[in-house]
Amino acid sequence: MTFDERRVRNRNTAPIGLGPVVYWMQRDQRVQDNWALLYAATAAKERNVPLAVVFSLVDTFGQTTYRHYDFMFKGLSEVEVTLRSRDISFFLLRGEPTKTIPAFVAKYDVGEVVVDQNPLRFTNAWRSKVADLLPVRLTEVDAHNIVPVWVASQKAEFAAYTFRPKITRLLREFLTEFPSLPEVATLPRPPANDWEALLDAVKTDRSVAAVSWIMPGAQAGRKALRAFCAERLSGYDIGRNDPNENAQSNLSPYLHFGQLAPQRVALEVRAAETPRDDRDAFLEELIVRRELTDNYCFYTEEYDQVAGAHEWAQKTIAEHAKDVREYVYDRVALEAGATHDPLWNAMQIQLRQSGKLHGWCRMYWAKKILEWSADTQTAITNALYLNDRYELDGNDPSGVVGVMWSIAGVHDRAWNERPIFGKIRYMNFAGAKRKFDVAAYIERWSGTPATTLFS
Ligand SMILES: Cc1cc2nc3c(=O)[nH]c(=O)nc-3n(C[C@H](O)[C@H](O)[C@H](O)COP(=O)(O)OP(=O)(O)OC[C@H]3O[C@@H](n4cnc5c(N)ncnc54)[C@H](O)[C@@H]3O)c2cc1C
Repeated sequence: MTFDERRVRNRNTAPIGLGPVVYWMQRDQRVQDNWALLYAATAAKERNVPLAVVFSLVDTFGQTTYRHYDFMFKGLSEVEVTLRSRDISFFLLRGEPTKTIPAFVAKYDVGEVVVDQNPLRFTNAWRSKVADLLPVRLTEVDAHNIVPVWVASQKAEFAAYTFRPKITRLLREFLTEFPSLPEVATLPRPPANDWEALLDAVKTDRSVAAVSWIMPGAQAGRKALRAFCAERLSGYDIGRNDPNENAQSNLSPYLHFGQLAPQRVALEVRAAETPRDDRDAFLEELIVRRELTDNYCFYTEEYDQVAGAHEWAQKTIAEHAKDVREYVYDRVALEAGATHDPLWNAMQIQLRQSGKLHGWCRMYWAKKILEWSADTQTAITNALYLNDRYELDGNDPSGVVGVMWSIAGVHDRAWNERPIFGKIRYMNFAGAKRKFDVAAYIERWSGTPATTLFS
């Protein structure tokens, strides 16, 4: 198998040793359609050395809660079973990767570690430290983006319109079918993990419950993709803007946990027999908008700070810093959904209960946090906290950019100036009422009859 080397970069200059190749799985938690695993298997086969997969489990990262661990563990248990069926050993390590990965490398005399790509600060810090500590090569493969983030563009893009032509041009080369996984030798198989017991033991915040509307795992992800293509892709272009419709794909949790490859989704959607407008609208979100979020986090050190925003946005934010806010809610009030706005409160209830807020609602939800916060940085921090704590797809570059787009104008342009928002795009209740049946939405999520609200 020939491997496109543009998907790969070295994280250190240490030599490749003679021992096994290990894939340190992090973001891309799947066996099929995984460029990092394919790269590691190809390297092992070429060198005639064993291959193994390791996952280093920490008890807490980002704003994760029991909800995320439940989804992730069910996916990882499937990874373990699938790897076993292909005779590839899977090792679950417990603790900070900065300790577990070097120790594993020493124990098995590993010759090369391959890791997948994630631009978020905390996981990237792990990779940097592990790269420094390892006596052998740490190789990073972008298995999450269709076009590797460092190939798509060499800088933080200004907006979707500057990124679109670049990534579209490269799709001819990168949006290809996946090769099959080569057969290789493996390390001695460790005992299978008891994932139920692990889930019971993990020291995570259990106050955010697991959700049952979505089945975790790679198989369930592929099933959901097929069902979406067959039943809902047709009509997506128009329907996705109505929060009362089930018109979005609901694939983001699978994409976030790497249980489904974006490249697989793009290939299936491209081949679907549905109207062109629907396919194009979906691929714009999946490819241009989603991969732009990795671009932003990859090239912007202060990606969750006002300092990460465009110059025009920083200027307008500074100019409106002292504007009087009619309502100011702290994190506790926001988290409880205890504001004066019944629509926002219903959204917060949906977020807390279901772990997935509709795409349009996410914008309104974040913009109101800007309107009701003492300052813009507090708004960003609180919105990200709530997003990452409750959204099943949270702790992701798409969440960072969603919040930064809504609150700090990232990838957006300047709009008409108004109090508090300055030139940041504004959204309000009247606009929501024009867009969809707000009363039905509120009644559904907060149980408050519409007549009480609008009389
Ligand atoms: C304030 C705010 C917070 C957000 N937080 C997250 C988050 O934590 N995690 C997350 O994955 N997405 C986030 N988004 C982006 C987007 O809302 C979700 O990806 C989308 O609603 C997920 O539902 P879906 O899979 O049904 O989307 P679909 O409409 O079916 O879209 C298909 C895929 O395209 C991608 N996509 C769609 N819309 C966007 C977008 N605006 N930006 C980037 N990629 C997009 C996603 O990967 C999505 O799964 C956020 C947006 C905003 C405004």
